[in-house]
Amino acid sequence: PSALREVLVQIPDIKWDDVGGLEDVKQELKEAVEWPLKHPETFQRLGIRPPKGTLLYGIPGTGKTLLAKAVASESEANFISVKGPELLSKWVGESEKGVREVFRKAKQASPTVIFFDEIDAIASARSGNDTDSGVTKRVVNQLLTEMDGLEELEDVAIIAATNRPDILDTGLMRPGRFDRHIEVGEPDEEARKSIFKVHTKNMPLADDVDLKKLAKNTEGYVGADIEAVCREAAMLALRDDLEASEIPYKYFKDAIDKVKPGNTQLKDEQL
Ligand code: ATP
Repeated sequence: PSALREVLVQIPDIKWDDVGGLEDVKQELKEAVEWPLKHPETFQRLGIRPPKGTLLYGIPGTGKTLLAKAVASESEANFISVKGPELLSKWVGESEKGVREVFRKAKQASPTVIFFDEIDAIASARSGNDTDSGVTKRVVNQLLTEMDGLEELEDVAIIAATNRPDILDTGLMRPGRFDRHIEVGEPDEEARKSIFKVHTKNMPLADDVDLKKLAKNTEGYVGADIEAVCREAAMLALRDDLEASEIPYKYFKDAIDKVKPGNTQLKDEQL
């Protein structure tokens, strides 16, 4: 298949309000990505260089992908998402070409946000075996070349995400590359309440459902877990009554017992 067709340009429809909590992270992304994409002339006028690359790091399921989509959408930019492992598997023997293609497509479709998810898969400093590190080294070099070659006014912002910032190639972190590092942390109680609010927005909640209480009872749960709890609560309600038209608190309680924190991904894979 043509390489061009392999790179998919999306237009996500995710708003800042769809991301619960993480107010500081949203603000940083607005400044680092949204402002430069929407008002490049302002940066030029003030003689400052917008950051080229932003690294989002933190444990799985905390909303890194969601944030990247939201900032693209709110910046009225196109979105190209590339998973690190995919870059190696989908483009076997031509991973560098894949990287070139991503940037070519991004410039063509600009303004664009390029999102490299699981960047550690291609850009980890120490790699398991030699053949592997040969490929990944070439891919990283290609990525650096593309980033260095990006002109300021080309309207392309780059975001990468990882759960393992500690193993990333240091070359990637130099100034002019991924020089903004933003931690996307585990949500506190207030943030969990906001995330519950996002995911129950379209659910017919019974009067006894108290989001504050849900937040209190879900210590250790990340956004992905909370989404799973809400889905599970609705499914449990349906299981009891296919005609159910509202969801009482007890189903949320059962759902919390069922969905253990941090296991969402595992559960999804098992389905
Ligand atoms: P991974 O490291 O596994 O890629 P991630 O940090 O990129 O995880 P997402 O893929 O963004 O996490 O989150 C998975 C899903 O969990 C989202 O699609 C969303 O439904 C929900 N979610 C996660 N965090 C939040 C949040 N802060 N607000 C609302 N929903 C969230």
